[in-house]
Amino acid sequence: MHHKAIIIGTGPAGLTAAIYLARANMSPLVIEGIQPGGQLTTTTEVDNFPGFPDGITGPELMDNMRKQALRFGAAIQSGRVKEVDFVHRPFTLFLEDGGQLTADAVIISTGATAKKLGITGESDNIGKGVSTCATCDGFFFRNKKIIVIGGGDTAMEEANFLTRFASEVRVVHRREELKASKIMQAHARGNTKVTWSLDRTPLEVMAGPLGVTGLKVRNNTTGQEEVLEADGIFLAIGHTPNTGFLGGQLPTDELGYLQVIPGTAQTAIPGVFACGDVQDRIYRQAITSAGSGCMAALDAERYLTEHASVEQELQVR
Ligand code: NDP
Repeated sequence: MHHKAIIIGTGPAGLTAAIYLARANMSPLVIEGIQPGGQLTTTTEVDNFPGFPDGITGPELMDNMRKQALRFGAAIQSGRVKEVDFVHRPFTLFLEDGGQLTADAVIISTGATAKKLGITGESDNIGKGVSTCATCDGFFFRNKKIIVIGGGDTAMEEANFLTRFASEVRVVHRREELKASKIMQAHARGNTKVTWSLDRTPLEVMAGPLGVTGLKVRNNTTGQEEVLEADGIFLAIGHTPNTGFLGGQLPTDELGYLQVIPGTAQTAIPGVFACGDVQDRIYRQAITSAGSGCMAALDAERYLTEHASVEQELQVR
């Protein structure tokens, strides 16, 4: 089946792109993957999305965006894109169920997945004390003890940020040396509310009926195990942008994030656009994601309009 525009992904970027393209009469088809609504559906309260003075839950926010896209005529189809052909036009998307779709323009908004440790108690307590987003969930840990796991820039930034709420923030890192840039390390080391458990490998998230109680770690030098008390554990061990299905057809940076022409949502292939966390290694917020979704839709609309007029001209000749 052929569509003018297909959007892959239903996080804030994809759904914002859908709202804009639908309102521009481009009848977009949105492919909803295995996590409809994206990462926000795994958070509870969202207090920093403008327009909701009393906050809104992640699932509710995404449901609202979905309804808004549908109201203007976007079509949403569940399925997973497993492969693409961006070499030939129209572009072809191959779905996991064997189906195929073609499109004149494609917007990629497949997001990024926070890396997990894979230790006992981690996945069971996501949203109950284990979080992958300090900006989203830090507020809920006022005067509590928090552990941040990781030694990169994100861990340093999140540790600093979380000291605004927490009584103590402990950074747990698997090596003695931090990976973070010197300046970010200096900020965190200069913060008296940040304490350090370096050279420790996380082994298990400890939890009781009321949620997380601590983190069991192994001291890599002595081999001894200990439990560090905490009410919240923030994972800051990196993200993986969801680009596997592209088979390397679009250029990425060294971390795998899609590259766009700065100030636009245009990838290296005209007619293919990217927005949201799949192309953003720095901000990763719902609002920046939604903003880049709007950019992708406006860029795609312009591309489709120009493309249509070229085709019309060719037909007339
Ligand atoms: P990074 O990949 O840079 O760091 C991940 C950290 O997590 C590393 O210290 C790594 O340990 C640790 N880690 C990874 N896997 C595991 C595991 N299984 N168990 C225990 N620890 C683990 O990710 P970031 O999110 O910190 O940064 C991503 C990019 O974004 C970087 O380029 C960074 O510079 C940039 N960034 C920039 C910011 C800014 O400029 N304001 C803010 C935030 C990010 P090890 O060191 O041993 O590999």
